[in-house]
Amino acid sequence: MLGRSNVGKSSLINALVGRRIARTSATPGKTQYLNAFRFPTFHLLDLPGYGYARASLVERRRYRRLIDAVIQQRAGVAGVVWLIDIRHPPSKDDMEMRRLLAAAARPTVIALTKADKLPRGQRLKAERDRVAELGVAPDDVVVTSSSQGLGLPELTRRIERFVG
Ligand code: GDP
Repeated sequence: MLGRSNVGKSSLINALVGRRIARTSATPGKTQYLNAFRFPTFHLLDLPGYGYARASLVERRRYRRLIDAVIQQRAGVAGVVWLIDIRHPPSKDDMEMRRLLAAAARPTVIALTKADKLPRGQRLKAERDRVAELGVAPDDVVVTSSSQGLGLPELTRRIERFVG
């Protein structure tokens, strides 16, 4: 699972699992390490958030290497859950990640996060806008809200499909 710093990744992991296993951090950009959670039949890898505005060049390079090592080179990566905030057009860092993910060619599902922050009537349009901006298939996108539980069963199904 990966996404921009503060996109809601820890909250989504905790909501999916139903337990607070991932640490939500008050300081964006502070979680620099890769966390792995062991499930009976697979490992869930929680990658550090990217796009932290104050990250140095060295930190950005290190992050790229980590992503490269995990997503591109690591054998047995069954799938990627990529998180994008439903409310905002993808950032430059998101589009860079889009290129890396396309190059890695792993099965990917996009979780649009924090949907509860949009009025119901705006969600469909926002979803369509993000799909168009990212240039992804509508079927690869799941609208989610960790606080309301929206989209969690569907996202669980997608992850189960990844891991067979
Ligand atoms: P991370 O940095 O990607 O792990 O993001 P966090 O899970 O720590 O969340 C960042 C902030 O967004 C926190 O203040 C969360 O409470 C908030 N947040 C995360 N998910 C949701 C959501 O589904 N709905 C709302 N309203 N807030 C959320």
